[in-house]
Amino acid sequence: MARLVLVILGKQGAGKGTQCARLSARYAIPHVSTGDILRGAVKAGTALGREVAAVLAAGELVSDELVNRLVEERLGRPDAAPGVLLDGYPRTTGQAAALDEILGEAGVSLCVDLEVPVELAVVRLSSRRVCVECGTIYRESDPEAVSGTCSKCGGDVVRRVDDEPEAITARLSAYERDTAPLLDFYRSRGLLVGVDGTREADEVSAAIEQIVAARGLA
Ligand code: AMP
Repeated sequence: MARLVLVILGKQGAGKGTQCARLSARYAIPHVSTGDILRGAVKAGTALGREVAAVLAAGELVSDELVNRLVEERLGRPDAAPGVLLDGYPRTTGQAAALDEILGEAGVSLCVDLEVPVELAVVRLSSRRVCVECGTIYRESDPEAVSGTCSKCGGDVVRRVDDEPEAITARLSAYERDTAPLLDFYRSRGLLVGVDGTREADEVSAAIEQIVAARGLA
C-alpha cells in the first residue's frame, strides 16, 4: 500500500484535532500538528519556541520557511514512513507546494475539508480546554476542565492562550485569508473532499474512513 498522506483542512474549531486523533489510531499513522509542535517548543522554551512565542500569542502565522523545515524533519522520521495525518499544515499555497516537494512523486493522498459554520467554530473554541501534557481535548463542562486535572495523565487542563476571544477572531480571519486558496489548490488536483464537520465525532470519522476506502487508499 502506498504512503497514506491525509491533509485535514478546516477552520479552527472544525474538529481537526479530534478527527486526527481517531484516524491516527485507525490507520496507525502519526498525527502531525504544526500547532502542537510550535506550542510544545514555546512551552519547552527552546530557541524555536522563543522565536515564535509572540506570533502564536497574536494568532498570526509563522513563516512558511520555518514550518516547512519542521515538517520536512518530522516526515523524515521512521514512524511517518507508512503515512501521516497533517493537521494545521499546509496553511498556505506556498506550504502546499513545499509539501509536494517534500513528498516527491506520490504526493498527498487526499485532502479532507471539515466544514463547519463560523458560529459553531467560535462556540467550540471558546469552550475548548486542553491538557498541557498529553494534548487531550476537553469541553469546558467536562469534569477534567472543571477540576483542571487530566484524567489520562494527571497534567494541567487549561484554556489555550490562542483560544482567548480576541485571538480566536484573529485566527479565524487569518484562516479565511491564507487558507481558503488551499481548497482551490487541492480541488484542482482532484484531491479535495468536503465532509460535514457539524456532526458527532463518530459520524465524521466514519464518513472520512468511507472516502479513504472508496478511493482505495487504505
Ligand atoms: P493551530 O493549533 O493549528 O491552530 O496552530 C496554532 C498557531 O501555530 C497558529 O495560530 C500559528 O501561529 C501557528 N501555526 C501552526 N501551523 C502553522 C502553519 N502551517 N503555518 C504557519 N503558522 C502555523
